Amino acid sequence: RRHIQVKHTQMTSHSFSNKFCSISSPACKIEVPERLTVSHEALVKNGLVDRCVSVPVREATDADILLVHSEEYLEAVKKTPFMTLEDLMEFTQQYGDVYFHPNIYHCAKLAAGAALQLVDNVMTGKVRNGMALVRPPGHHSMRSAANGFCVFNNVSIAAQYAKQKHGVERVLIVDWDVHHGQGVQYCFEDDPSVLYFSWHRYEHQKFWPQLRESDYDCVGKAKGAGFNINVPWNKVGMQNTDYLSVFFHVLLPVAYEFCPDLVLVCAGFDAAIGDPEGEMCATPDIFAHLTHLLMNLADGKVCAVLEVSKNGSRKLHFKNTQFKSPNPFLQTTPRSHASRVMTCAMLVPEGSQALHSNNSPAPALALVPAPGSDPCIPHSVSSNTSALTELAAEFDRHITIQSFRLGA
Ligand SMILES: [Zn+2]
Repeated sequence: RRHIQVKHTQMTSHSFSNKFCSISSPACKIEVPERLTVSHEALVKNGLVDRCVSVPVREATDADILLVHSEEYLEAVKKTPFMTLEDLMEFTQQYGDVYFHPNIYHCAKLAAGAALQLVDNVMTGKVRNGMALVRPPGHHSMRSAANGFCVFNNVSIAAQYAKQKHGVERVLIVDWDVHHGQGVQYCFEDDPSVLYFSWHRYEHQKFWPQLRESDYDCVGKAKGAGFNINVPWNKVGMQNTDYLSVFFHVLLPVAYEFCPDLVLVCAGFDAAIGDPEGEMCATPDIFAHLTHLLMNLADGKVCAVLEVSKNGSRKLHFKNTQFKSPNPFLQTTPRSHASRVMTCAMLVPEGSQALHSNNSPAPALALVPAPGSDPCIPHSVSSNTSALTELAAEFDRHITIQSFRLGA
């Protein structure tokens, strides 16, 4: 596999399900159309939209939705546009933390369809990568249940669709939303062709969705064992270096070994500072770097699909910085929470503009062999030094790898 040098994080495509603007519900003040319209306006103002190709949205078909969801569930959701508000409330109550509006079935079809349009455009080479701005989000919805604002599982449908329509053999799904995308995990936990990675606020199962299966030791089932990676944060306040540490020490070594044909991102921006739900301390700039790192996989075929974010105005800033070119300056601390937890550390020296860019001096990356395994991280990936060496080879000239011990 050839290493593709990516010089810019410029997004070449975005799908926008703007028909969602017609939804409004007095019953739900959180999930409102402004989440999308305000985001889009900010991207226009920032100039990002000018650098993108707009991909027209389409409704997902029944066949698309049935790639992931049960016929029974689809038929039930199909009835919601014709329900009275009282019936809708009753219908809603059988699920967890989700609101149904008479227009949501239409919007949910557009959201899933937007993700599929993006996959089509990326897989056929019309655009290199892209982001789908969609509501409602998808990663919490399950085969036969809506959950956590999610009706259809947009990213899971996109993964199945890519396999079926484009003959993709391996899909990597990176879920950087601060919540665990349990719907995606359930969908692929016994499937070795889809590697699902999620970090999420967990706090020993006290944080929503409070599931035992969000923990580190749920690594997949049957043939899918080893293809599900959960990084549960048992503390809030994680910083840029924590996120980078987990990318370098947990996700990327496995991802390079997995060698995906397509990367899908459950792109929730509630994992950044200022989000009242997430309470994490990573700065918006981190998303540019995470995106950049993923663009070295799958020959750069990366499709990001918007997930849940509670804080609209900050979210815009995250999206703006996610695709800035060159990558924004990243604030890092020498020793992160995660590096202490993992007993290994990655140092990004002050002043490095990007982790790997021809225009900036090569930053030094320090790796400390993990003396022991830690319960937070799956054993199979806790001290994967050979994979890290391979990863280093991928970055060859751009990053200098050195091994030494930090402190005692
Ligand atoms: Zn979330």
